[in-house]
Amino acid sequence: LIQLYMPLNFLGVVYREIRQSLTDIERMFTLLNTHREVVDAPDAVDLPHGDIEVCFDRVEFAYDAKRPILFGVDFVIPAGKTVAVVGKSGSGKSTLARLLYRFYDVTGGAIRINRRDLREFRQSSLRAAIGIVPQDTVLFNESIFYNIHYGRPEATHEEVLAAAHAAQLTEFAALLPDGLATVVGERGLKLSGGEKQRVAIARALLKDPSLLIFDEATSALDSKTEKAIQASLDLATRGRTTLIIAHRLSTIMNADQILVMDAGRIIERGTHLELIRLSGRYAQMWAMQQHDAGENGFSSSGNA
Ligand code: ATP
Repeated sequence: LIQLYMPLNFLGVVYREIRQSLTDIERMFTLLNTHREVVDAPDAVDLPHGDIEVCFDRVEFAYDAKRPILFGVDFVIPAGKTVAVVGKSGSGKSTLARLLYRFYDVTGGAIRINRRDLREFRQSSLRAAIGIVPQDTVLFNESIFYNIHYGRPEATHEEVLAAAHAAQLTEFAALLPDGLATVVGERGLKLSGGEKQRVAIARALLKDPSLLIFDEATSALDSKTEKAIQASLDLATRGRTTLIIAHRLSTIMNADQILVMDAGRIIERGTHLELIRLSGRYAQMWAMQQHDAGENGFSSSGNA
């Protein structure tokens, strides 16, 4: 029996590894809808652990040389602070996140982490330091617990529960047949966009990254879900360098700086109050969202 068991056990391990790497690849590609194009420099070093300051220094970028997407994008996210980006659909917001995660390299200017060019660091160490909460989280056909634990597989049971709690999932899970052990995903319980995003926030909280990228879902949320996401986001961003790609302006009222993008350029920047006082594009978007929210009781997307 032992002879039979050993190879089967071995196959099980191999299968799990293959499945893990396949789902990882699938997840990575689906999340940012892109592919791996960049390679480490031969003398690349690991990004040291600890606080992260991000600087976009006159960044230019084109997916295709014939069609530039970003033009001289300049901003800093000081360590522990939150910068939010808003703007029309297609203005280049998600591209900033893709460049920061280094799915692509800039075509001009530079992105610096703690004053060193991003390209000097090994991608593996860079990505280990970044937590992403994507617009549309891919969940495995496993329990909610597993889906959170995935953020840091060596985390203890208690740490997973704490992350679920911080992401406002405890109350939600209490109503499910098996609580956090309830299987979700395509073949399990289907979660709403807002619920999935809370699982992603819990996953990111568990990973405890130095840099958090939050890509807000565009879909309208009811006010209860929105409050739950906001509360967990506030916790996740506290004292952590954060880039928020926002569609609902209510999400980012407390951001340290808001950037308004238009066709690949930053056209306004400041705090919520400063931008309202400026009476420019942001103030216009704000007025429009207030109007829509009043009309249908939902927060609407800023993509108008
Ligand atoms: P949204 O609010 O709709 O998510 P966005 O502001 O995040 O939009 P990006 O996704 O950054 O916009 O896209 C900026 C521009 O780059 C768009 O014109 C888009 O068509 C183009 N683009 C995005 N991804 C690719 C890609 N992989 N290849 C070629 N062009 C792309």
